[in-house]
Amino acid sequence: MEFPDSPARRFAHAYGGEADARVLTLEAHLCNALAYIHLAAAALDAVPAWTLALSIPILVPRWMIAVHELFHLRSEREVDPVMRLLPFLFTPLSLGYRELLTDHRGHHLHMARSADPELYQLRGSPLQGLVNAFTAPEQMWFRWRSRHGIDNRLMAETGLRLVLFMGLAAGGGIAFVWYLASARMAFGLSYFIFFYALHRRGEEYGVYPLALPAWVVKVVTLLLGPVVVQATLHHDVHHAQPRIAARHLAGMRAAVSANGD
Ligand SMILES: [Zn+2]
Ligand SMILES: [Zn+2]
Repeated sequence: MEFPDSPARRFAHAYGGEADARVLTLEAHLCNALAYIHLAAAALDAVPAWTLALSIPILVPRWMIAVHELFHLRSEREVDPVMRLLPFLFTPLSLGYRELLTDHRGHHLHMARSADPELYQLRGSPLQGLVNAFTAPEQMWFRWRSRHGIDNRLMAETGLRLVLFMGLAAGGGIAFVWYLASARMAFGLSYFIFFYALHRRGEEYGVYPLALPAWVVKVVTLLLGPVVVQATLHHDVHHAQPRIAARHLAGMRAAVSANGD
């Protein structure tokens, strides 16, 4: 039974839906495909390798936030096999959609407490936060192993991603170095902002809105698109009502805070 003023009723019009899931899936695949097409073009000397430093920092956060939005719309059984594999690679041993979704659900359920799988990124000084964000691609796989172990499926999928990673490295040469350096930089910075910067204020742990000058918001929106920017600026609203689509977070802030009072 649904109560007249239940959050499901009050916020449902702002929830992400089928159309969002389809667009986000397409966006994530497109970002991954464009990154690898650019890498291939650079490896074949069709474009200079350094141009990867221009495209990858735009494609990585767009991909990350599209996948994050999808976490709230699609279980691992509801995504296609490519999405399940998450073949946008940053490190030799990496996790897939099933594992990252489990970690993200844990983050929502236990935010900033000992059971939060992302707690390691929130701890310590900003410098420690930065180091953890930049080493997160490696830490994730080993942290998952110590918490859950490695089942046959993860073993097989890790192997598949490892072969792809080695193939990209072998085929890409210097272009792969440009790719990896740009991807790691973008991933590290995005993780630092999405976790440490949004969940810490001095010694305090929580989730906080991010206020940026209007011109910064405008420039970043132009580069990364509104979904990345809205999902980041209003992460506190997202934690309060995780089913609200990123594009509605700003508009729903007042109603969501009133609901929490
Ligand atoms: Zn969070
Ligand atoms: Zn989330």
